Amino acid sequence: MFINGNWVDAANGATFEITNPATGDVIGECPDGTAADAIRAIDAAHAAQPQWGATTAFSRADLLMEAWRLMGERAEPLAQLMTKEQGKPLKASRNEVAYGADFLRWFAEEARRITGQWLPSSRPDQRFLSVRTPVGVVAAITPWNYPMSMLTRKMGPALAAGCTLVLKPAEATPLCAKAIFECFHDAGIPDGVINLVTTANPEPIGDVFTSDPRVKKLTFTGSTAVGRVLAAKAGANLQRVSVELGGHAPFIVFPDADPEHAAKGATALKFLNSGQACISPNRIYVHRDHADVFIETIVARVANVKAGNGADDGIGVGPLVNEAAVAKVAAQVDDARANGADVPVGGHRLTEHGLDRGHFYAPTVVTGVTSAMTIYREETFGPVAPIILYDHVDEVIDLANDTNYGLAAYVYTRDLSTAIRAMEGLRFGIIGINDVNPTSAAAPFGGMNDSGLGREGGHEGIDEYLETKLAGIAL
Ligand code: ADP
Repeated sequence: MFINGNWVDAANGATFEITNPATGDVIGECPDGTAADAIRAIDAAHAAQPQWGATTAFSRADLLMEAWRLMGERAEPLAQLMTKEQGKPLKASRNEVAYGADFLRWFAEEARRITGQWLPSSRPDQRFLSVRTPVGVVAAITPWNYPMSMLTRKMGPALAAGCTLVLKPAEATPLCAKAIFECFHDAGIPDGVINLVTTANPEPIGDVFTSDPRVKKLTFTGSTAVGRVLAAKAGANLQRVSVELGGHAPFIVFPDADPEHAAKGATALKFLNSGQACISPNRIYVHRDHADVFIETIVARVANVKAGNGADDGIGVGPLVNEAAVAKVAAQVDDARANGADVPVGGHRLTEHGLDRGHFYAPTVVTGVTSAMTIYREETFGPVAPIILYDHVDEVIDLANDTNYGLAAYVYTRDLSTAIRAMEGLRFGIIGINDVNPTSAAAPFGGMNDSGLGREGGHEGIDEYLETKLAGIAL
């Protein structure tokens, strides 16, 4: 763990092992922190806050730029580590390192654009001045699916705003978190400004984060179930909260779309990170006119996606995070089958050629999906593309909106009006229009309804870490 500028063990000396999800091999161990360590970390962040908050935006920006440079210099070992610990194919890990580093550069730039306002008054002898100040100590909890970029997406804006922080990474991927903290340490981050608490048992740490009055903000990325509980606890303490949660993204292929192009897009998007992404398409609505071409194309492409150890050449899909994830995906596919769906490709675990040592599920297409099936309602988080045919364009936006989630949605059309009407009608925070990657450090990311509160990245991303302070001045 990294507390007050030092690499330290848990106070009780306990450790836990980290395994490679593709092979089951133990690849390292980490301190198994407890509430006592979380308190130690908050002590350090709290002590460092006044001085860090008083640094100039220019020096904070320089430090973030140096951390960005170091991530670039270490890109290859960082990517190798990510593949080993998280499982995604090496090419995807390289992309994530670049995407993750981008948040540091973007927020280094944004740091210098934190400004105030000179405001008018109805009283001739009065002026108002509003300024932005850091909220204070931030507690961050991050997931395993994007084990580096989900850290930098929080650390970049928090540090740029002048906040100190304590961070608890997911128990599956603490080594990636450690590697990111090393970049900051080597960039010269002052003691106590960032603190890392690793643990195999997150609940007590979450309890400390949400109940310690010195923590002014909770930022969480993970499941809706856990985010809801943490947001409630943080709310009781009047902490600021941003939570980026689950999704159940619709992917709509309109009658005027090119079905082959759309099927290629759906394949590229669906199997990213083995489907373990909150913006992964989970309900693919295809107009009946396009059914044959779309299904033929996606099935042919999925049949060619090679699953295996992400460190090997030519692998398109890596393992799932653990056995529970494989079991959940298998249960959803089995339920769809039992309710009349077809599974033209995949639909089973992968155990041959040594894959039984890891957590693999075959890249899968399910057709004939209906609202009676679990897969239609529950987030899948696995390499399964469920296809639903529809007949009426007028109804498809309502079908797509028929979920409590509201993170990402995708639209394929060649008609500008259709695209704009869809964008306006869909209740989702992020809409891809003929686009499989509607994300960037420069763009606000976040969801509506059960997908969360707040936005990360973009200009909005730094607002989450700033308070407004007003001075009324009598002349
Ligand atoms: P997933 O189901 O995708 O693993 P989780 O929401 O369980 O998503 O995990 C996201 C993050 O939340 C991880 O860092 C995990 O350790 C943490 N977490 C899970 N349960 C709790 C909890 N009760 N209190 C605090 N953090 C938690």
